[in-house]
Amino acid sequence: MGRMDWAWKTIIEPFKIKSVEPLGFTTRSERETVLRDGGYNLFNVPADKVLIDLLTDSGTSAMSAEQWAGIMRGDESYAGARSFFRLQEVIRSLTGYREVIPVHQGRAAERILFQIIGGAGKTVIANSHFDTTRANVEVSGAEALDLPVAEAHQIDQPADFKGNMDTLALEAALKERGKDVPVVIMTVTNNSVGGQPVSMHNLREVSEICRHYKIPLLLDCARFAENAYFIKLREPGYAKRPVADIAREMFSYAQGCMMSAKKDALVNMGGFLALNDKELAKKAREVLIVGEGFTTYGGLAGRDLEAMAIGLQEILEEEYLSYRIRSIAYLADGLRRAQVPFIEPPGGHGVYVDAKRMLPHIPPEQYPGQALICELYRTGGIRGVEIGSLMFGRRRDGRFEPAAMELVRLAVPRRVYTQSHIDFVIEVFADLAARAASLRGLRLLEASEHLAHFTARLEPI
Ligand SMILES: *Cc1c(COP(=O)(O)O)cnc(C)c1O
Repeated sequence: MGRMDWAWKTIIEPFKIKSVEPLGFTTRSERETVLRDGGYNLFNVPADKVLIDLLTDSGTSAMSAEQWAGIMRGDESYAGARSFFRLQEVIRSLTGYREVIPVHQGRAAERILFQIIGGAGKTVIANSHFDTTRANVEVSGAEALDLPVAEAHQIDQPADFKGNMDTLALEAALKERGKDVPVVIMTVTNNSVGGQPVSMHNLREVSEICRHYKIPLLLDCARFAENAYFIKLREPGYAKRPVADIAREMFSYAQGCMMSAKKDALVNMGGFLALNDKELAKKAREVLIVGEGFTTYGGLAGRDLEAMAIGLQEILEEEYLSYRIRSIAYLADGLRRAQVPFIEPPGGHGVYVDAKRMLPHIPPEQYPGQALICELYRTGGIRGVEIGSLMFGRRRDGRFEPAAMELVRLAVPRRVYTQSHIDFVIEVFADLAARAASLRGLRLLEASEHLAHFTARLEPI
């Protein structure tokens, strides 16, 4: 383990707690009412009524004492704030990209980018688009094409780098319609297929193919440090390399990146776009000023820029990353013992439970994933998120097309919960697994066209 030369079995939380928040204890009947009032959509549940919140690892990190100190030091000047230059320096030395454009969160970078390079007739190719990335590509009029490797769909077959892109499929797609592809995106780690890492080998290959077809490659790098740590653990030749070096090598294969800083930058709000292409950066700044703010703050306060700069350095500490990856594996070990099926191996930021296999009696049109998260909340006050037919199913003209997988993601916020919280989650799951056959499905009452899962209302069948 990093520079500490850790020889013990127990991986401890590499921090102590200075400030605490109470958890939301509720009774079962309160939770029943909350579910009914919220249309059986966990996004409608007040956080006060949640005991352990595994809805997302986005914006839910605990900041360090150093980051809170940075909040006080933040420079709130409208233009040219000191905090911007500090952030710019950190991002330049991490990524090597010269043009740094702050935005309020990841999807703002996506909106700006695809407003410029998207549009009807274009196809954006990725190992897998994250849901907001897909939405921004599609809103621009372009098509979003996912080309994950075949292993990504084999839920119970572990493999080291299930986040990879299918490079043969990429070659074929670029040969056929390369001139309509404005950009290729590699999402690291690959969120949509289970927080699975991408190998350096795959990044290098994709980069070479893109160079051959003269198409820029961008990283969607929300979890670049978790990905870099997996490379250190799993890819030959990287075991002794510092994670920061590995991360720099990852960025070196692309011409830019978009980042939701709410993940691996350990902040509650923030993001950025970083590019080599000066012309594209100039256009992006024009769009930025209209919609987000001036070029040196992009929709954020100076203190947010400061905290982001510090978080981007803290995330590369190997004691932290070792604990982070190990604590997700610990949750997975407990679920495996309780015979809960999930995507193997567990990802970097959470465990993705296979609701299709856990609840085979509930058909996709009755949303098994959603049924599972409702029961998880009802039983233990635990909040997860459905990544299945509610999120990715297509409902058009009364026809229903299910998603490829029915998953429940248990995303673990960074530096927030301790091992006993996770032990409790495992205990609740074991209880639920034992009576899985008695769970019932849900009927969809209303949903919007894009990102339906945020606003949907359902009822039990
Ligand atoms: C969260 C996320 C985004 C979007 O970022 P927001 O900060 O939520 O707008 C984009 N891509 C990936 C891979 C993400 O995980």
